[in-house]
Amino acid sequence: MHPRDQTIFALSSGRTPSAIAIVRVSGAEAGAALKKLAGKIPAARMATRAMLRDADGQAIDDAVVLWFPGPASATGEDVAELHVHGGRAVLTSLFAALAGIKNLRAAEPGEFTCRAFENGKLDLTEAEGLDDLIHADTDRQRRQALRQLKGMLGDKARDWRAAIIGASALIEAGIDFSDEGDVPAELIAPALARIKALLGEVKGVLAAQGKAERLRDGLVVAIAGPPNVGKSTLMNQLARREVAIVSPHAGTTRDVIEVQLDLDGYPVTVIDTAGIRETDDPVELEGVRRARARAADADLVLWLADTDSAKIAHQGNTPVWLVRNKIDLGSGDHDGPAKPEFRISAAHGEGLAGLIEALVRFAQDFFGSAEGGLITRERQRRLLADTAAALERSLSAIGQGEELAAEDLRSAATSLGRLLGRVDVEDILDVIFREFCIGK
Ligand code: GDP
Repeated sequence: MHPRDQTIFALSSGRTPSAIAIVRVSGAEAGAALKKLAGKIPAARMATRAMLRDADGQAIDDAVVLWFPGPASATGEDVAELHVHGGRAVLTSLFAALAGIKNLRAAEPGEFTCRAFENGKLDLTEAEGLDDLIHADTDRQRRQALRQLKGMLGDKARDWRAAIIGASALIEAGIDFSDEGDVPAELIAPALARIKALLGEVKGVLAAQGKAERLRDGLVVAIAGPPNVGKSTLMNQLARREVAIVSPHAGTTRDVIEVQLDLDGYPVTVIDTAGIRETDDPVELEGVRRARARAADADLVLWLADTDSAKIAHQGNTPVWLVRNKIDLGSGDHDGPAKPEFRISAAHGEGLAGLIEALVRFAQDFFGSAEGGLITRERQRRLLADTAAALERSLSAIGQGEELAAEDLRSAATSLGRLLGRVDVEDILDVIFREFCIGK
């Protein structure tokens, strides 16, 4: 049997051991598997208690089972959910029992979502939203992912695509049947108006994109400055503060290289450039490589200096905040050539609250319009930009020939189809036939 047609199973809940573990089974054999294990198929969508047994009749666990007959299920296929005790031995026996059933196999990563996509349960942008929701660390990331999962971008793309196909149908009808005099020549004008309106909307979403894409990855702040000014001390202070949600980034042995801060719901990664040092340790190496690459295009640099050594290295267009450290040492009035924006004592904590507050405001400004932004990935932005470009081409081509314009419209619809994960040119013909009753 083709792997695609096999029934799959996997642990869908978190790391074991845990109080409860949820194993999902999806596919044509899910019902048969449930019957074999639980002795019955319970009423649809009703939590039902059952003793699960292996092929020899040995008890595996006292469980709660659920039955979701397709297509009204998460994957669109028949789905069984087994809620068992989350012990490793329980799961080992349960998986052995499931694997022993004909045409059942362990699922590949993402395979449930993939089947849901193939069965039209969600489009690609929604699948991306689902992935983001699972990985969201902060509240704002969660809300953004949820918007995506609810199809905010997908719905728009579907509407646009339908409108483009409609406009393209008008133009193609003009091309194919104008000899017959059946299709009024004025069809081109409304089609043009529609394309113009669409182009405006697509461009609007592209422009309002703001930093929504970055909300997924987080804003990057690099701490830089000469040796011994207290960069690592500041870093370790930040990591110890309440705002730090995730701490040491993998690949450090001595100090923290990166901390993830949750600043008012915005994800902010702070990188200590002093922590980035040469290493031969292959495990460390990858962490160092990543940290260096990220620090190189940081969104903000905190340039740390002590006493009057306030010299700022050139940072291109990146904003740099001069932070005077070690104010507890009292040589405070010699600020050097540049006036510092912040005066702190990393070791003793003075001024840190003010610095963090300023970082929160920076994050708020930086993400600003990201709230409500629909594009969260490079893939989405690229395809929308392709769509806008094709629409623009079709508008300028219309004067030179409708065939060219229609071709560009097809390409715009294809880009949107790719965005949604569906590309089918048959749609255009469909609309022509439906709207114009050509077979008269
Ligand atoms: P880095 O090389 O920039 O990472 O600097 P470190 O964080 O390793 O700090 C260098 C030295 O300065 C250490 O001995 C720290 O304890 C000390 N130091 C850091 N911040 C302060 C501070 O605010 N006040 C004082 N008095 N010493 C500090």
